[in-house]
Amino acid sequence: MAGPASPPPYAGGWLDRASAHRTDPQWLARLRARPDTRVVPIWQDDCVVRGDPPRAVVPVGEPARQLLDAVGEAVFLGLDAGAGVFAADLSGLDRSAVLDLAGGDDIASVRSVYAAHTAADAAILGYARGLLHWIRNQRHCGRCGSATESRDGGHVRACLSCGKLLFPRIEPAVIMLVESAGEPRRCLLARHRASVLGEYSTLAGFVETGESLEDAVRREVAEEVGLTAGAVRYVGSQPWPFPAGLMVAFRATAVDDTPVVDGTEILDARWFTRAELAGKAAAGRLGRVDSIDRVLLHSWLHQS
Ligand SMILES: [Zn+2]
Repeated sequence: MAGPASPPPYAGGWLDRASAHRTDPQWLARLRARPDTRVVPIWQDDCVVRGDPPRAVVPVGEPARQLLDAVGEAVFLGLDAGAGVFAADLSGLDRSAVLDLAGGDDIASVRSVYAAHTAADAAILGYARGLLHWIRNQRHCGRCGSATESRDGGHVRACLSCGKLLFPRIEPAVIMLVESAGEPRRCLLARHRASVLGEYSTLAGFVETGESLEDAVRREVAEEVGLTAGAVRYVGSQPWPFPAGLMVAFRATAVDDTPVVDGTEILDARWFTRAELAGKAAAGRLGRVDSIDRVLLHSWLHQS
């Protein structure tokens, strides 16, 4: 269970992003040439894996330099104890060439291999996926349509015609556990049509233009389960680079008691006691392993 000492999945600030240095191409070139440089290869949003269970391949030293040379443009993720960590987008190559070049035996989604990695390694995989996804979808300027080029190790793109600077797009979403006002405390979970497993889970939705995070929580609670949220309290956040999310987690107290669902997006919503949640937790069915919904649910469950 994630507590204060363990950041939510994909979070943690494991790398020094060296933002004062990454603007300097000479500094990046010297770093790239070092024998301790490592590279995260990504192919069409997925990682290159090897072994059983599959783990991401992250070449170091000469194989890392060969990878970077093959793609030309190196995207700088950060420093790990002084060593450079880069990402390479191999999407332009075909699958077998990618496996040969990176030394992998398969391609897998970052989420599917989450549990086989340390928190730091999983976070770096997510970071690489998110940044490369943005770059691949930002080849042209949104204002004038001309080509863009990389700046700052890949963290900025600049339009070659009008000069507009483009920064990584991050889409905030709120995710919330709704709790009842009275004792004994219960929490409201919903069954979403999109849920593959048919499990009851927390509510979530994207923040819209002109909304605060709290506004978005109140709107989503009203839209999805027909309840009025009173107090809304921040719990934590996690990057969600699938492809560009930032999940901001809250606990909301409902001022009314009877959920009403639309029957299309949300099929059902009901109140659960701590004992019921404990049963789900014991069966390993409380929250997804790489999502902050697990943090929300388990922190509520274990609250005295
Ligand atoms: Zn432009």
